[in-house]
Amino acid sequence: MVIAPLAAAPVPNAAFVRRLSVLFVVLIGVLTAITVRVWQTIDRLEDESRRVAHTLEVQQRTQSALAALGSLQTDAVVYAVSGDPTRENDFADYSLHLSDQLHGLADLTADDPQQAARVHAMAVAATARRDVLAQLIADRKRSGQVQPMPALPISPARRLAADIAASEVTTMNARRDLARVTARSTRALTVAGAALSILFLTLALWQIRRAVRRQNEHQCAIHDANLRLQAALDESRRLGESMQQLAHFGELLQSCRDMDEVRRGAQQMLPDLLPGLGGRLALLNPDQNLLAVGVHWGTHGLIAESVFPPDDCWALRRGQPYPMAGADAGFTCKHVHYPNPDFPASRYVCLPLAAQGEVIGVLTIDAMQDICPHQRRLATALSEQLALSLSNLRLQVNLREQSIRDPLTGLFNRRYLEVSLERELQRARRHRLPMAVLMLDIDHFKRFNDSHGHEAGDVLLAQFAETLRRSTRNEDIACRYGGEEFTVVLLDAGDASARQRAEAIRSAVAAMDVVHAGVRLPSVTVSIGYAVFPDDGTQPDDLLRRADEALYFAKRNGRDKAASAREAVDASST
Ligand code: GH3
Ligand code: MG
Ligand code: MG
Repeated sequence: MVIAPLAAAPVPNAAFVRRLSVLFVVLIGVLTAITVRVWQTIDRLEDESRRVAHTLEVQQRTQSALAALGSLQTDAVVYAVSGDPTRENDFADYSLHLSDQLHGLADLTADDPQQAARVHAMAVAATARRDVLAQLIADRKRSGQVQPMPALPISPARRLAADIAASEVTTMNARRDLARVTARSTRALTVAGAALSILFLTLALWQIRRAVRRQNEHQCAIHDANLRLQAALDESRRLGESMQQLAHFGELLQSCRDMDEVRRGAQQMLPDLLPGLGGRLALLNPDQNLLAVGVHWGTHGLIAESVFPPDDCWALRRGQPYPMAGADAGFTCKHVHYPNPDFPASRYVCLPLAAQGEVIGVLTIDAMQDICPHQRRLATALSEQLALSLSNLRLQVNLREQSIRDPLTGLFNRRYLEVSLERELQRARRHRLPMAVLMLDIDHFKRFNDSHGHEAGDVLLAQFAETLRRSTRNEDIACRYGGEEFTVVLLDAGDASARQRAEAIRSAVAAMDVVHAGVRLPSVTVSIGYAVFPDDGTQPDDLLRRADEALYFAKRNGRDKAASAREAVDASST
C-alpha cells in the first residue's frame, strides 16, 4: 500500500522570512554606504593626485618662466657687449619659451581667480622686462656699438612666482588634509561596515541554519509519522484479515453439535489463525477439577502438561491473561515448563476461557520470539470467541440433555427411549446382533412412600437410578419409564446375558443402602421382566409390551424376581 506523505515540507514561517529580509536590507544598506563612501574617497584621492600634478606643473612652469627671464637678461647683456648673433637667436628662443610658460601658467590657473591674477601680474612684469631687454638688443643691432646696460626696473616676477608656488602648496596641503580626513573616515566606515556585514551575515547564516535544521527535524518527524502510520495500517489490515478468519471460525464453532466437533475444528483452524505460534487448548472437565489438553499444535520450546488442575494456571486463578502484556511473568504457570532457565517468559501467554462467569478452559500460546501485541490481540480475540462458542455449546448440550433426561434421576426419559430404541433396533438388525429390553418396577413402592414419606421415596428413586447406571454399560440405555418403573436397553445381549444382567441389577437393588434425613431406610426389591430381540419381537412396541408382560409375570410370582417374556408366555399357555 502506498501512503501519501503526512504533510508537505514545511514553508519557512513569515517571522523567519521577515527577519531574514530585514537582515539583508540592512546588509545591502551598509554595503551601499561603504561603496558610495569608497567611491567618493577614491574620487578625492584622484583629485588630490591631479592637484599635486597640477601644483608641480605650476611650480615647474613658474621656475621655467623665471629661468627663461634670467637667460633673456644674460643673452641681451652679452649681445649688447659682444654683438654675438647666437645670443640674439637664443634671446628669441627664450622669449618664445617664456611666452609658452606664461600661457601655460595662465591656462593652469584659469579656475583660480586669485592665482590667475598673480600669474597675470607675473606675465605683465616678465613681458615688461623682456621688452626692455629686446630694446637693448635692437639698439646694439641698430648702432653696432656696445650699448650700456640700461637701468632695469626691479621686477616683481620672482616674488609673484614665489607667491604662486606658495599658494599652490597651500591649496594642495589643504586638499591633502581634507583627503586624509576623508580617508580616515572612510577607513573607519569600511571597518565598521565590514564588521556589521560580518555580523549580519553571521546572523543570517545562523537563521538559515536554524531553519534548515528545523526543516530537517520536521521532515524526520514526518518520515517517522509515515512509518508509524504505515505500520499501523499494516497491522490494522492484518488484524482485519485475521478478524475475518476469526469470524469464519466463530461461525464454524456455532454450528458444532458436540465437543468432538469443536476439537476437530479447532485443531484444523487454530494453526492457521495463529501463524507462527504454538498452542494448547485445555478444557475443564464436568467435575471442574481437571483440565485436559484437547487441541495442540506447534511447539516453540515450551513443555506443557496434558492434564492439570485449574490452580496450576495463573491465568485461571486470576481470571485474566497471564503474563500480562509487557510485564515480567514473575511466577510461571505450573502446567508449563521451560526447557532451559533462559527461556524468556514473554514467549508464552495463558488466556483463560470463561463465559457468563463460568470457567471453561485455558488457551496457552507460545512463540519462538516474544509474542508481539498483534499476536496477543489476535489470541485474546480468539480465546474470547472460543469461550463464547464453547459456552453456547454447553448450553445447547445442557438444553438437549434436559429435554431427554428425567430431572429427578438423571436417566433418559421415555421420549428418548422411544427414539433410541427404534435406532438401536435398526442397528441390531443391520449387524444381526441380539438386544434385550428390560422393564423394572420397584416392589410395593406405594407402601414405601406411605411409610417414609414422598421425599424419602424421591431419594430412593435417585439411588435406584444410580444403581442402574452402575449396573449398565455406557452403550446401554437406562430410562425412567414413568413413576417407579424403569426400562433398560441392553445392546448385544441375548436371553442368557439379559437374565444375568437382570439378576445382577436385582441383587444390586436389594443391597442398596439408602440414608435419608439421618435415617437408614429399609431395603427395597425390584421386579424385572425382559424381552429379547429378535426372538420375542422385532418392533419397539412389541418388545416393550412383551417385557411388561414378563414384569407382571414376575410380580405375580412373588416380586423380587427377573422373568423373561418366554417364561410369561409359557406360564400363560399352561
Ligand atoms: P407394586 O409392587 O405392585 O408395583 O406396588 P406399588 O405400590 O409399587 O405400585 P403402585 O402402582 O400401586 O404404586 C406406585 C406408586 O409410586 C404410587 C406413586 O405415589 C408412587 N410414585 C410415582 N411416582 C413417584 C415419584 O416421582 N416420587 C415418589 N416419591 N413416588 C412416586
Ligand atoms: Mg408400578
Ligand atoms: Mg411398583
